[in-house]
Amino acid sequence: MNQALHRAPTFTDVQAAAWRIAPYAHITPVLTSRTLDALTGAQLFLKAEQFQRAGAFKFRGACNAIASMDTEAFHGVLAYSSGNHAQAVALAARLHGTKATIVMPQDAPAAKVAATRGYGAQIVFYDRYNESREQIASHLAETHGYALIPPFDHPWIIAGQGTCALELFDEAGLLDVLIVGLGGGGLLAGSCLTANAVRPECKLYGVEPEAGNDGQRSLRSGRIVSIDPPRSIADGAIVTQVGHHTFPIIQRSVEDILTVTDEELVQAMRFLAERMKLVVEPTACLGLAAILSGKLDVRGKRVGLILSGGNVDLGVLARLLGA
Ligand SMILES: *Cc1c(COP(=O)(O)O)cnc(C)c1O
Repeated sequence: MNQALHRAPTFTDVQAAAWRIAPYAHITPVLTSRTLDALTGAQLFLKAEQFQRAGAFKFRGACNAIASMDTEAFHGVLAYSSGNHAQAVALAARLHGTKATIVMPQDAPAAKVAATRGYGAQIVFYDRYNESREQIASHLAETHGYALIPPFDHPWIIAGQGTCALELFDEAGLLDVLIVGLGGGGLLAGSCLTANAVRPECKLYGVEPEAGNDGQRSLRSGRIVSIDPPRSIADGAIVTQVGHHTFPIIQRSVEDILTVTDEELVQAMRFLAERMKLVVEPTACLGLAAILSGKLDVRGKRVGLILSGGNVDLGVLARLLGA
């Protein structure tokens, strides 16, 4: 963003974000399941962000960023994304009376284009094989005076995402473990700020798709590792590297970063649909998949999980769960 908070975010920023987004965001429910507890031998608390506005936690960060900036200084906001961040920025901009422009690939799913347009955003398409979205975005930002809202790597975004864990601790009380899906690390870094402040004993884990294990490799090697664009059904977490703002927070706070396969994600999705009647997107199942696959032993623990979003195409859902 052209305007920035020029220091690392802290828990105070998370608290400020909670206050800033309160008029706009939902406090989402925390769900429990006896079946799930019996199956895992733990007590699980699922924070249901598929019920957040625009269908994912991304609204928290986008809303905090737009509420924090001096919108008078810009002629609108800009984001490049075909996923949840696009819808989040479009809705947050509309609620703040500012214009949003979203740069999307020409072949973005029609449902996502329609949803983003439905929130009032202007969409600029690009050819993902021949054009660079970064260049298009920075050109648009400069010519029209738009402020770029990044999807994860900004202190305002991280602070906004940290409000989700804050609500989870408020409702579930003392947690021993908190497990969070990892893409670029905005949600995990924000959750770390919150957990470290409200419950330092709580052990933190990130979970990413096995095909996109850049976060795990970065943690093990102590520096940000960049990978080729990964292929996974967890489309909200297929980034090529974690952020420069998010990584240091994650590095000093988490016990480990685990990975799960697409098959394990589908099993977790099926459990949520069949047993808990919950529709979530594949990326939202990262944490639960790590537990159900036995990669993380949580027996006897009070465990928090963030179901990060519910924006899944129904055709895709039917195909994944029907198999
Ligand atoms: C973006 C996203 C993630 C990953 O969040 P980061 O802040 O990029 O790590 C996880 N789940 C869903 C549903 C998302 O949209």
